Amino acid sequence: MGISGGKDSAALAIYMKLHYPEIELEYYFTDTGKELDETYDLINELEVFLGKKVARLENASHKNPFDHYMDIFNGFLPSSMARWCTKKLKLEPFEKWVGNDPVISYVAIRGDEDREGYVSTKSNIQSIFPFRKQMWSIEVTNKVLHNSNISKVTNLYKKFADKQDIDRLVEILEQPQSKKYLFSQKMNDLLNISISVFNKVLFAFFKESELPIALIDGYPLLNNEDVVVIDDVYNLFKENGVKVPDYYTPVEYEIDGEVGTYNRSRSGCYFCFYQRKIEWIWLYERHRDLFYLAMKYEKDGYTWMDSESLKDIIKPDRVKQIKREHLAKIKNKLNKPKSNKLIDILEEDSVDCVNCFI
Ligand code: SF4
Repeated sequence: MGISGGKDSAALAIYMKLHYPEIELEYYFTDTGKELDETYDLINELEVFLGKKVARLENASHKNPFDHYMDIFNGFLPSSMARWCTKKLKLEPFEKWVGNDPVISYVAIRGDEDREGYVSTKSNIQSIFPFRKQMWSIEVTNKVLHNSNISKVTNLYKKFADKQDIDRLVEILEQPQSKKYLFSQKMNDLLNISISVFNKVLFAFFKESELPIALIDGYPLLNNEDVVVIDDVYNLFKENGVKVPDYYTPVEYEIDGEVGTYNRSRSGCYFCFYQRKIEWIWLYERHRDLFYLAMKYEKDGYTWMDSESLKDIIKPDRVKQIKREHLAKIKNKLNKPKSNKLIDILEEDSVDCVNCFI
């Protein structure tokens, strides 16, 4: 299980220890060497709670991992278009650590998120998502529900499903996927009848595959029907005495006589190019030393953001403008929120990387 330093992966580690202590997990953290101190604090705290070490994986030998690759890439800063940092500092160390052993990798995509987590291209690594209804990756589920497998899957359903559900299930299963009946619809129709039966059918189907899960005889998560959403994540921290990293805590700022709040919405490198402008201002005002360190990387025409440099973003008028725009956006969202937690409203905007911010 990867611990990113973010709240969701930490909550998953807590959840698995509480609910599935029989599953022997190994934990790892791929260290870029550029995280905020709170990330390292959280990992230390988790080690105490879990009673196990979190392996620190680094893809460089002599120097800070990020700086090592900055030299190799000749000062070319990573960006969403050229994300060498994730590949070199997150994926490669993990895949190297795992080697060719069959591995089940637990990924903390929440039940209220609409994104697919990290799925390795290596066939010996299988991702499982215990927080959401659909715990298997979309990729492998799509293969199972392929139209060519209708009769095989129907037979498995007849073996595992409750009698009262079988007619409706067969109706769903026998309807082929098409433009009118999409894969996602079919999958949800089946999951809405029973998550555990769906899991048992897929587990049985995978027995004939080369997936890592085929190597184990029984799997406790087959009966798991929990869907863990953001409130549950915070409760897992609270109820188990683990501290949520400080950077998630909204802090007040003042603009034009009004009060807004800002915070960091993610773990990862302090200079991550995925952060929003208001988060850069948060970094400038709350961790000025780190902001200046981020600034030092901007040279030879390379900048963290496409549109402006860090030197420009901290000009007083620009800071005010960013806060003004941020406050207006928050007010707008508070009028029609999907969630009533301020941190979720702020998070909704995030564009991010499933390898670093979980
Ligand atoms: S946190 Fe951002 S900068 Fe750091 S490795 Fe991940 S994507 Fe790259």
